[in-house]
Amino acid sequence: MDKESKETKDRWKKIKEELGFELKLVWDQLPQAEREEALKFSENYKAFLNAAKTEREAIREIVRLAEEQGFVLLDEMTARGKKLRPGNKIYTVNKEKNVALIVTGKEPVWNGINLIGSHVDAPRLDLKPLPLYEEQGIGLLKTHYYGGIKKYHWLSHPLAMHGVVIKQNGEKVNISLGEDENDPVFVITDLLPHLSKDQMQKKLGEAISGEALNILAGTFPLEEKEAKERVKLAILELLNQKYDIIEEDLTTAELELVPATKARDVGLDRSMVGAYGQDDRVCAYTSLRAILNCQNPVRTAVVLFVDKEEIGSTGNTGMRSRFFENTVAELLYLIAGDYDEIYCRKALANGRALSADVGAAVDPNWEGVYDKYNAARMGCGVVMTKYTGSGGKYSTSDANAEFVAEIRRVFNENKIVWQTGELGKVDQGGGGTIAQFIARYGMDVLDCGPALFSMHSPMEVAHKGDIYMCYRAYEAFLKG
Ligand code: MN
Ligand code: MN
Repeated sequence: MDKESKETKDRWKKIKEELGFELKLVWDQLPQAEREEALKFSENYKAFLNAAKTEREAIREIVRLAEEQGFVLLDEMTARGKKLRPGNKIYTVNKEKNVALIVTGKEPVWNGINLIGSHVDAPRLDLKPLPLYEEQGIGLLKTHYYGGIKKYHWLSHPLAMHGVVIKQNGEKVNISLGEDENDPVFVITDLLPHLSKDQMQKKLGEAISGEALNILAGTFPLEEKEAKERVKLAILELLNQKYDIIEEDLTTAELELVPATKARDVGLDRSMVGAYGQDDRVCAYTSLRAILNCQNPVRTAVVLFVDKEEIGSTGNTGMRSRFFENTVAELLYLIAGDYDEIYCRKALANGRALSADVGAAVDPNWEGVYDKYNAARMGCGVVMTKYTGSGGKYSTSDANAEFVAEIRRVFNENKIVWQTGELGKVDQGGGGTIAQFIARYGMDVLDCGPALFSMHSPMEVAHKGDIYMCYRAYEAFLKG
């Protein structure tokens, strides 16, 4: 090679390296010791997923782990008449479906808080208020699906029942059936291919009706042959024996059918985690671990877990409710011993937030729906999503460039492997997160989390490198 062509080559190498943006693989960037740490992190993450199949179970598990690390209930601090000091670790719970974990900062709260918000609900099938019926001598349970599902995922798949039944006297019966090896599971039957001639002609979205998502519940009849609906009666008797409940109690219940499968390693190299509910419990777990590690932050750190994101952040446990504002108000009251609303508004408006939610990774089986220049990649680190929404950025908060730059600086200074992402090609579809509701406080907010394969399916897939990097990113944000 002559000198001139070598110089030319070096020049474009230099331009590429110094001026171009290049994706990095998390695994390439981690030293061996940290790779091992990342793998260990995923083991604990899988245990969390198996213990947290519903929003209530996730909250229970989060509170358990937080208490282990010395977090104290805010109400207890109030009751003891204790004033909060910098570095205190506290939490609040809302109706068993929200938690806010807080570590008080050195700076006054009204200077602004650092917030990470994720959601702990996931798409599933809920039992209807009067679910039990008998048809053709088969006992069945009617469901109403929750969140954005592809209905065919839920047929011929083992399901477990989780949730609560509230009796008239207020007693709460917890049910978890289908997770233990010795438990029975539930299933929704599918039509055999031999008789699917008509169904196969239908569009995918119309081939399975919502009213066809009925769960097989039993077939053994009551002994009394003269009785009508002997199977339904036998199941009612069984429910009464096992849980001490009557049919009317099912009208005051929240029973959810979720995949009965456990979180598993995926691939010959075990590089990925496959499990139900990773949207968004992957962000819940990684942000939880980040705040459990958070000691004496500069700004007050809050990690929030919300419900109802999958159905529009509605209800008094969703991000559109006042739970979070009320928590900040109470926090201020405990710090100052007094309350002035302006300080609460300042704490919120001066805040910085990460809306911790998942993105979609380019899937080689479905390449066509992604803009390959802008889509997130499996294994390439935490995804910064400036905007979500659909149809011309509709219904997104669209983060300010200044704030995205601030997060970029924090990530680069802390050697976080990050990438950008868009949910798919323009006009291909879209979706939203809690970011738009956080933005209403005037707070800066950016969507930030790992990218998944098969989002909203019973077997969502995440990369172990991304999971670990997400945790590191949240940790850096909280202390920054
Ligand atoms: Mn989500
Ligand atoms: Mn979702």
